[in-house]
Amino acid sequence: MNHSLSIPALTEDLSRVLIDADTIDRRVNELARKISADYADTDGTLLLVGVLKGSFIFIADLARKLSVNHVVDFIALSSYKGDQSGNVRLLMDTRENMENRHVLIIEDILDSGNTLDYLIRNFRTRNPASVKTAVLLDKPDRHCVPITIDYLGFTIPDVWVVGYGLDYNEKYRTLPYIAEMFPQA
Ligand code: 5GP
Ligand code: MG
Repeated sequence: MNHSLSIPALTEDLSRVLIDADTIDRRVNELARKISADYADTDGTLLLVGVLKGSFIFIADLARKLSVNHVVDFIALSSYKGDQSGNVRLLMDTRENMENRHVLIIEDILDSGNTLDYLIRNFRTRNPASVKTAVLLDKPDRHCVPITIDYLGFTIPDVWVVGYGLDYNEKYRTLPYIAEMFPQA
């Protein structure tokens, strides 16, 4: 891919590029190859469930590199930040039925783990054939709940990151790279 003509510059909020676009692309390719191999012999169509909004670019890139049949669906949640109880609320459910299907949750970033913990428990009540997770970024220092990530993009330090789907107050979601923000006041 040639990004050389139009790489958006860092603004004053952003301290550095943590993962550049080519590195992301190569890693997403590797994940897609692994996922395609792992699901090659399973029955039925793989159901990808992207967690809105942060995963929309990751799921778009990943899905287009898969060589197994799949359908794309989305779910929207809200979490109460600053609330240590880990309360997660369902804002929009999937449209697809999960019964007897292989489900792969596509998430942008694993922080406390509350979101994925909620989703995995919720999906398991729907009698899927399997539930696995693909997560682009993991902040292991922040976990409060143990979560198994089946397909992980990158491990990152405990910093706020934006770009490639991730935002800060809805800004920076469509940056082609993942950037680290300066700590906000
Ligand atoms: P968890 O439930 O694991 O604490 O939180 C996961 C969600 O928190 C992610 O899906 C994302 O929406 C948000 N989040 C956590 N860390 C970051 C970050 O560094 N940048 C952005 N943009 N979102 C984050
Ligand atoms: Mg998310």
